[in-house]
Amino acid sequence: MSRFFSKKYENLTPYTPGEQPQDMQYIKLNTNESPFPPHPAVAEAVKQEVESLRLYSDPDCKALVAKLAKQYGVAPEQVMLTNGSDDVLNFAFMAFCDEEHPAVFPDITYGFYKVFAEINHIPYAQIPLKEDFSVDVADYCGVNKTVFIANPNAPTGIALSLDEIEKILKSNPNNVVVIDEAYVDFGAQSAVALVEKYENLLVVQTFSKSRSMAGARLGFAIGNKNLMADLNTLRYSTNPYNINRMTSVAGIVTLENQAYTDKNCGIIMENRENAAKALKKLGFALTDSKSNFLFASHPAIDGKTLYTELKRRGILVRHFDKPRISPYVRITVGTAEQMDALIRTIGEILEENQ
Ligand SMILES: *Cc1c(COP(=O)(O)O)cnc(C)c1O
Repeated sequence: MSRFFSKKYENLTPYTPGEQPQDMQYIKLNTNESPFPPHPAVAEAVKQEVESLRLYSDPDCKALVAKLAKQYGVAPEQVMLTNGSDDVLNFAFMAFCDEEHPAVFPDITYGFYKVFAEINHIPYAQIPLKEDFSVDVADYCGVNKTVFIANPNAPTGIALSLDEIEKILKSNPNNVVVIDEAYVDFGAQSAVALVEKYENLLVVQTFSKSRSMAGARLGFAIGNKNLMADLNTLRYSTNPYNINRMTSVAGIVTLENQAYTDKNCGIIMENRENAAKALKKLGFALTDSKSNFLFASHPAIDGKTLYTELKRRGILVRHFDKPRISPYVRITVGTAEQMDALIRTIGEILEENQ
C-alpha cells in the first residue's frame, strides 16, 4: 500500500479470481468457463468489426439490447448491458443499497457480493445456508433489506424454484431483490418471467458461462424500466462505453445462434449427470447442482489435498479455504473426455491415498 492510498479503502479485501495459469496446459475445470468455443460466425463478425474500432461504440448498444429484449420478451427499456455481469452487480449495490437498505446475501455464495458491499461502504448481513447448503427462503421473507441471491447458487449449484423467489419478492416490496442468474441456462427456472409483475425485481445474467464468452466480458440486467434508468445513471457516470464494439457484435451473433448455445448447454447437463454418477460411485457426496459445475466432497480426502493432487496431475479445480466448504471442491463440467480424465485421475488419487 502506498502512503497515498485513500483511507476509505485501507481495509478492503479484493475478490480472488480463480487461477488462470500460463505455465502449462491444464484440463481447466476451475472457473466455470464453457469448454466449447463461441459459434464460428462470431469470429467472422468480430473480424469485420475491426475496421470500425477507430469509432466509439454505441453507448446504448441498441442492436444488442433489441435482440436481448426480443429473446426475453421484454421492452428494450427493461434491458441494460454491462462489462460482464460483475459490472451490473456493482451498480446494483451502488444504486439500491445504503444505510436504510442494507444488503443481505447467504454466507456461502458468490464472493464478489461482499467485496461490492465493502467497496461501496454498504452495511450487509450474511445469512447462513441450511445444513444441506440450501437457501432457507423464510430467512429472506420480509427481511427488509436489499436481497442478493445467486440462482443457482455458487459454489453449491443448488437452485430455488420460481415460487420461492416470488415469496421473497412479494414480502419485500420496499427493497430491490437481485437474482443473479449466471448459471440459469443449465437447468434452473429464470425469474425474468416475473419482471412484469414485480417492480422490485432485478435479474442479472451473463454471456460468460452458457454462451462461451467469458473473455469478451458481457453481462446484462433485466427488470422494471425505472430500475434500468437508475442503473444507467450510474453507468453513464462511470463508463458509457463499457461494451466494446467487438464484444457487442459477438453478443449479437451469439444470440442469432441460440440453437448452438442450447445444444452446448444440453451436452454440459448430460456430462454433469454422468460425472455426478461416477463421482458418487467413487464415494463422493454431491449437492444437487443445476449449474455447469459440481460441488463434491469425499470422506477419505479433504478438499485442499484433492485440489493439490489434481493440479499436480494437470487438472485444475477450485477449492475454497473457507469455513463449512473447505472439505469440498468445485468442478466445472467440461467435455465428456475431460470428465473421463477427471474421474480416472480422481480414482488413482483415491487409491494412492488409501
Ligand atoms: C461467473 C459469475 C458471475 C459473473 O460473471 P461475469 O463474467 O462478470 O459476467 C456473476 N455471478 C456469479 C454467481 C458467477 O458465478
